[in-house]
Amino acid sequence: MKRTLVYKVDLTKIEGDGAFSCPKCATTISPDDETENAYTILETKFKGDSLNKLIIQCKCGSEIHLVGFLSS
Ligand SMILES: [Zn+2]
Repeated sequence: MKRTLVYKVDLTKIEGDGAFSCPKCATTISPDDETENAYTILETKFKGDSLNKLIIQCKCGSEIHLVGFLSS
């Protein structure tokens, strides 16, 4: 059985529109991309009304935990 690789990406450390490259396969992943062509959303976690954490899975199988969403 293949082991799932888990990466953590802190959005506060990303410049620009929040797009980043998958740490494993370098596919560009944009949280604003809702087509889910490059990734699948596994789980969204909210703290109150604001998005707190997003767990996505890249096409290559890596699981990426997105944290650091700005609470406005
Ligand atoms: Zn990937």
